[in-house]
Amino acid sequence: GSLTVQELAMKLVVPESEVIKILFFKGIAATINQALDLETAEMVTKELGIEVEAGTQESAAKKVTEMIEAGDLDYLQRRPPVVTIMGHVDHGKTSLLDAIRHAKVAQGEAGGITQHIGAYHVDVEHNGEPAQVVFLDTPGHEAFTAMRARGARVTDVAVLVVAADDGVQPQTIEAISHAKAAGVPIVVAINKIDKESAQPDRVKQELTEFNLVPEEWGGDTIMVPVSALQRENLDTLLEMILLVSEVEDLYANPDRPAKGTVIEAHLDKARGAVATFLVQNGTLRVGDVFVAGACLGKVRAMIDDRSQRVEAAGPSFAVEVLGLTDVPAAGDEFEVFTDEKAARSLADQRTMEQRQVRLAQAMAARRVSLTTLSDQAREGELKELNLVLKADVQGSLEAILASLGQLPQDQVQLRILLSAPGEITETDVDLAAASSAVIVGFNTTLASGARQAADQNNVDIREYNIIYKLLDDLQAAMEGLLDPEM
Ligand code: GDP
Repeated sequence: GSLTVQELAMKLVVPESEVIKILFFKGIAATINQALDLETAEMVTKELGIEVEAGTQESAAKKVTEMIEAGDLDYLQRRPPVVTIMGHVDHGKTSLLDAIRHAKVAQGEAGGITQHIGAYHVDVEHNGEPAQVVFLDTPGHEAFTAMRARGARVTDVAVLVVAADDGVQPQTIEAISHAKAAGVPIVVAINKIDKESAQPDRVKQELTEFNLVPEEWGGDTIMVPVSALQRENLDTLLEMILLVSEVEDLYANPDRPAKGTVIEAHLDKARGAVATFLVQNGTLRVGDVFVAGACLGKVRAMIDDRSQRVEAAGPSFAVEVLGLTDVPAAGDEFEVFTDEKAARSLADQRTMEQRQVRLAQAMAARRVSLTTLSDQAREGELKELNLVLKADVQGSLEAILASLGQLPQDQVQLRILLSAPGEITETDVDLAAASSAVIVGFNTTLASGARQAADQNNVDIREYNIIYKLLDDLQAAMEGLLDPEM
């Protein structure tokens, strides 16, 4: 029953850095791969103010970044759905994205030049009205999952591509669980129906095992047979995406400063820091001052997916933004501020938080324990093993020191920084922390505050009441043979 920091963050739909930060302030320096026991995981969950649904195995906690605020409620208008295409490798995700884009965008477009900015939109007609669908064009659930791990929720509908000649495959199943965990509705595109070997009914049959039952079989999952190659049935697919979107709460207030998520960012040689912003609420305009992640910026220019310079971008639209001072990370939130001072102070605060997280990670990486020292000894990297030795009485200390003197020290030298009778105190912990030492206690106890100090400083305290066990462990560590017990 343990979870890594990364797994916990995924489950709670919060950024990993958020989990690391909470642990840090509780005196636990953790890396993203660190295993957390249930108690710690629950503590973090509580600190985040997340209610865990009792009884559900997937502890279906939800903390989705709120893009809509109370003040928006009277001004909400429908916005287009943002769609991610997921599915197994080679089932046609890229082909489908390209096919939809070419069928819907290139025609009649001035020059027809399109550029990849991480998202594109298509214009369609729905119920006799003009409508749009926005596609995130980084296919695959890695991108989806990475965003989610950072706390971003940008996808409204997932299109699950399944090749009709290959059926449900491992990444199909992964995609289904990611979409379900995120609470995103799925539309299935059964692709490659042009192929001789296509067996769309077999695909449908296989999907029922994952509770995706087609409507014609009494279920509620829309499944559309398509051919990306022959551009067949793409209109139906778009139509179905819009149909599914109708029952979702896709609203935003276009008349307010913009807020949303960074979906791509990079450093361009000619143009400097460039990022694609997906606007999720409000309208982004040239000249707006914003904070993205920890970066401050002012929109100098915006370019849409059709390579057009635009002055404004409303809800669900993605634009490439010029005017950043630094490169934010995909999944970072951005927000426009009318008050430049407020923006600057938020950016500063975020920068500080990022530093703290980095510090916490660096400290965790530096963690010294008898087990890690043993690992280093095995790799031949350990030259010295520093010890702080505390025991009940002077007599015990002398016995232990004498026996330690007998241990072979040709590979690794034992250095006793301190040996004294008495409790293990905070001062002992400070000494150990400052010199990457392990504390060994024999028949003694911890003074109040010592445990907390040790946890905060990543100091390993080993307690023994049998001498030979103590000697065995130290010898094993020096030889790189200590069993990892935690
Ligand atoms: P991805 O890995 O899911 O992005 O898959 P791709 O889009 O790269 O497609 C994998 C292969 O399947 C390519 O060789 C495509 O040409 C082919 N392919 C994609 N869609 C279709 C289709 O509808 N029909 C046929 N016959 N082949 C397709």
